[in-house]
Amino acid sequence: MAEETIFSKIVRKEIPADILYQDELVTAFRDIHPRAPSHILIIPNQLIPTVNDVEPVHEAALGRLFTVARKLAAAEGIAEDGYRLIMNCNQHGGQEVYHIHLHLVGGQPLGPMLS
Ligand code: IMP
Repeated sequence: MAEETIFSKIVRKEIPADILYQDELVTAFRDIHPRAPSHILIIPNQLIPTVNDVEPVHEAALGRLFTVARKLAAAEGIAEDGYRLIMNCNQHGGQEVYHIHLHLVGGQPLGPMLS
């Protein structure tokens, strides 16, 4: 069994977070250290440590990350100008929290992808 992170506690509302959306599959909340005017993390409620742990049984939750990203981008008013969705994997990918999360980042020009 993978070890829980702080994100499981956010899903269960055991610690405070600025939750923007939650349903039976996913939870979305504002990043505590925003890198842009809009910086939201969208996570599956169930712990999946990294993309390397993704299985077919997770497809519904992972698909939901994107439909929720689309809705939140519209709600943030950044859909038309554009935004970036990022999911980091392991050390070289820059992953810090080992509970899969989709970063929704926007509200300003973000520059080239790997800068
Ligand atoms: P990673 O580098 O892709 O794993 O991103 C982890 C993100 O989680 C970082 O952008 C952190 O700022 C963010 N983060 C860590 N702890 C919390 C928290 O308690 N609430 C909200 N965001 C968090």
